[in-house]
Amino acid sequence: MRYAETGYHLEIDLARGNIERVETDPKLTELHLGGLGTSVKLHWDRVPPETEAFDDENILTVSTGLLNGTPAYSANRTLFTFISPQSGLLAYPMMGGFFSAELKYAGYDKIVIRNKSPKLVYLWIHNDKVEIRDATHLKGKGALETQDLIREELKQPKAQVAAIGLAGENRVFTASIEQSRSSASRLGGGAVMGDKNIKAIAVRGTKDVYLARGAEFMSLMDEVTEYINFRNTNPIPDVMTILSGIGSPQEMKHTDEKWHTENFMWGNARTRRRDFWSKDNEANWTNAQLTAIQRLISCFNCPQQCGALVASPDSGSRYMMKCFGKLTYAMASYVDDLNFNFRILQRATEYGVDSFSTPQILAFAVELYEAGILTDKDFEGCPSDKEGRFFWLLDRVAHREGIGDILADGVYYAARKIGKGAEKFDHNTIKKHEQLPLKLGMLDPIYYLMYSTNEKISITQIEGNFPQAAFPTREQREAFVRDWIQVPDDRFKQYVLEWEPRGDKSIPYFPTPQMCSEIVDWMEMLHNIDDALGICAGMGSFCLKPPYHIHNYPKLISAASGMDVDEAGLKKIVNRSRNLHRAFNNRRGMRRADEKPPEDHWKRRFPELEEELLSTYYKFKGWNMNGVPTKERLIELDLGYVAEDLEKRGILKDGENNEEN
Ligand code: SF4
Repeated sequence: MRYAETGYHLEIDLARGNIERVETDPKLTELHLGGLGTSVKLHWDRVPPETEAFDDENILTVSTGLLNGTPAYSANRTLFTFISPQSGLLAYPMMGGFFSAELKYAGYDKIVIRNKSPKLVYLWIHNDKVEIRDATHLKGKGALETQDLIREELKQPKAQVAAIGLAGENRVFTASIEQSRSSASRLGGGAVMGDKNIKAIAVRGTKDVYLARGAEFMSLMDEVTEYINFRNTNPIPDVMTILSGIGSPQEMKHTDEKWHTENFMWGNARTRRRDFWSKDNEANWTNAQLTAIQRLISCFNCPQQCGALVASPDSGSRYMMKCFGKLTYAMASYVDDLNFNFRILQRATEYGVDSFSTPQILAFAVELYEAGILTDKDFEGCPSDKEGRFFWLLDRVAHREGIGDILADGVYYAARKIGKGAEKFDHNTIKKHEQLPLKLGMLDPIYYLMYSTNEKISITQIEGNFPQAAFPTREQREAFVRDWIQVPDDRFKQYVLEWEPRGDKSIPYFPTPQMCSEIVDWMEMLHNIDDALGICAGMGSFCLKPPYHIHNYPKLISAASGMDVDEAGLKKIVNRSRNLHRAFNNRRGMRRADEKPPEDHWKRRFPELEEELLSTYYKFKGWNMNGVPTKERLIELDLGYVAEDLEKRGILKDGENNEEN
């Protein structure tokens, strides 16, 4: 019997219409756990390095994590892995909601989709019955509308449906995959799904998931429950409100947006609005938010309620809003009315587009127009007011009409297609992907490493357990470290105690490059564990003092799966998957030169220090100076076959250096 996992994949060949239920090798779980780990392995084994995003060979993997479907709180992430049309690298956006548990209960750990369907279809998975069904009648339908139509058509009100909207069908590079309470948004999963001609995946499952040692697991969960209750009633003092608790940033619970609105750069990551949070704006925004919210909601088996069902003031139709999407369209367009954000996000969700990247792309177009690079001809028929202009541009992008066809590839590619100096306006992409629009004064060495090196590319999902800034006073630091049970090693407490907002022990030279390497490695490791288990980062890697951490994860994994995993073993497993992921991207051409934030990311840059940071981090990770894992490191992680492959391709020479050294 298999524990925690089902032990089966669903393999679907869309070209042949072939569906297979395939038993998986338990050894793979021992080596990579599940979720992201086993998905990366699958891509390494099956996707040749020359494969492009829209090639038949680009496999789309829909994956649960090892703990999905168990009683572990917040184990509800569904991961999509594929070669991204935007970055050209292996992407893994994920969504919360209810899909992954349902898939486990239907009896599958992953759906592996290859090739393309000749016509638009949707998948219907109902325990052992799996069908590829015609979806031509759903062409052009909204991502949320499609979910309702499929549930009605199947007469399965409890089915969980992940769907794309028009943007995905049209292969817009920022197209998302939407599911009633969440979405997998980054790096174009919706475009890959659309390219394969899959409108939606519907699933209903009624089987069981087994625990190896159920009583032990539940007793461990009692401790987790106790901690959640404690933290919910004891917010961390002296940090910004959204970081004081647990769960994904509580944007929908809190109305105070002073920090986001005044510290981020708006428009096309261009303007900092230092006085935005005036009394008037605060009153308007608070009122708009409280009026629009119908109720706060959670994902599957999570007590935190960090999303909200909101009713669009225009149409009255309801959709889920969460996190930073609450304000990105309003701020990017310089429309100071939060109701505008509620209205346009409803349309954007039906189209199925990423609410981090898309507003920046629209603002980029407006900037180019104002600079005379795009002309009246490109904007023919576009309203002149800010709101109307954003709606018009969003429609063009989703339909790939006129200038929208170029913008639909994202800022990096659009800038190069448009030319005439537009490249200079591409100032907020890393690895061809729009970043969070946050540009600050002084280089932050920890963020420098996170922005530059993580395979997720999306910054908000890399940062985590280490404070984002130094506490002003010694007393505050001592209070913070006092009950910091989550640290893997007490030296991290010392780093916090010594870290000053100003002076010798402040950024950019403190934490030192070695300390920064240790900090970033720890935070990244936690994200990789969450992503292998299917746990929401809001309860593990993303927040400051989460209920899940390196000390209780091994016990939970062991009790759930029956594997005997300790802390060292768990670190080795996720390091293995993380290095395999890096090698996969190295095989696709990613090198040191790609690992850099945009030039204007901080006003004050320190080129020598930045090089030292990168070199120190690479060394710490066991990578060569071009960011490729060395043979020694790979062998240590039982990845000798990867070293061989990299050597054969000339990416590694003499086990360490490569062709560019
Ligand atoms: S913390 Fe929020 S995003 Fe995470 S699982 Fe819970 S409700 Fe969902």
